[in-house]
Amino acid sequence: MLFKDIAILDENLDYQQHQWVGVLGDTIDYIGDDEPSDAAKYGEVYEGAGRLLMPAMYNAHTHAPMTLLRGYAENLPLHEWLQQKCWPFEGKMTGEDNYWATLLSCAEMARYGTVSFSDMYYHTPERARAVDESGLKANLCTSPLAFEPKPIQEFPIFAEMEDSIKNIDGMADGRIKFEGCIHAEYTNNDVTAKTVFDWAKEHNTRMHVHVSETEFEVAGCRERHDGLSPVQWLESLGAFDVPAIAAHCVWVDDEDIEILAKRGVTVAHNPASNMKLSSGFAPIVKMLEAGVNVALGTDGMASNNNHDLFQDMYLMAMLPKGTELDPTLITPKQAVFAATRAGAIAQGRDDCGLVKEGFRADLAVLDITGTSWCPINDMLTNVVYSSHGSDVVLTLCDGRVVYRDGSWPFIDIDMVKAEVVERTQRIQRELAEQVD
Ligand SMILES: [Zn+2]
Repeated sequence: MLFKDIAILDENLDYQQHQWVGVLGDTIDYIGDDEPSDAAKYGEVYEGAGRLLMPAMYNAHTHAPMTLLRGYAENLPLHEWLQQKCWPFEGKMTGEDNYWATLLSCAEMARYGTVSFSDMYYHTPERARAVDESGLKANLCTSPLAFEPKPIQEFPIFAEMEDSIKNIDGMADGRIKFEGCIHAEYTNNDVTAKTVFDWAKEHNTRMHVHVSETEFEVAGCRERHDGLSPVQWLESLGAFDVPAIAAHCVWVDDEDIEILAKRGVTVAHNPASNMKLSSGFAPIVKMLEAGVNVALGTDGMASNNNHDLFQDMYLMAMLPKGTELDPTLITPKQAVFAATRAGAIAQGRDDCGLVKEGFRADLAVLDITGTSWCPINDMLTNVVYSSHGSDVVLTLCDGRVVYRDGSWPFIDIDMVKAEVVERTQRIQRELAEQVD
């Protein structure tokens, strides 16, 4: 595809007008002011008038199959929400339920310009199949909940981890990766956690873990582990000896932030989920000042309840201004970077997340002719504060169209929606029968 005379956010996230961008295979092959001399080799010419080409987005923390729980458990405190609503529902979810729910998440993400996501859940083969078919990318992991202090090798989930690192990591031309994970400190113990971290090191993979989401979690951790915070506990056991995503980090202190920065941990900031579950506001300004890579996540659909990362980007830029009473905090560029390049870095996709020659063609094209885009005094400001995910008209992942003008080339959206509705109703019936 050759984008003709189109506005772009360049590799420095600066706004450039009247650019030509050529995509060859999975790569951005050409960016320039003029039509390339060998234009014909790019195939379709895409008219760029009224469009903005920007890097696609990378969702650094979600639970894709939780689309089945969208709107199911509302207005509850986190621990009640998790233990009394989410876990019983999830206990009824089969592998095929996970497959269809993940496909719906992929469709929704592609529709809103997201091409890749870090996904913590179960039934990895079924999730991987959905990601593969959708054309998207994902860093999958499966989250041991281990209340007994025994090595991970003694838990049934270990077989899935071993199988996934052998057969799923690197599949679909590297679009799908598999990595290590524990759900969180409060659902684990020293022995199991340490063997998971050792396993990640042994396989040279990455880690993904929920960290300091609530004040309650941090207080409990300090009690359980001689005053250590979740960040300190994780570090002491080797969780950060490999590149890691720490999701949430709402209740981290200066010492924690120093550790996260020093160890090159990416914080997946989930502003919508943290507010919806009343967990608090992550100190992202301090993190950014300390040099922490802050990426953005939607979290699962039971606590957001959508995969529109444009909303999370808006909240990231907006919230610190309100909570710190300082309108200078978080620039539009910092927010766009978090939604794009920072997430690609978090996923170990070093050649992704920027509109740059030689980078993967992971691109989102926005219709900027809508009322909320007028006038364009500052493009980045419009992208952060005036846009909606629904402005996306085209999403490319590794150079392939995964969404365009209301259609998904690789997903039968009507069938996916019908399956999701039917499967959600079945699980709710099963839960009701159990109560009776
Ligand atoms: Zn989560």
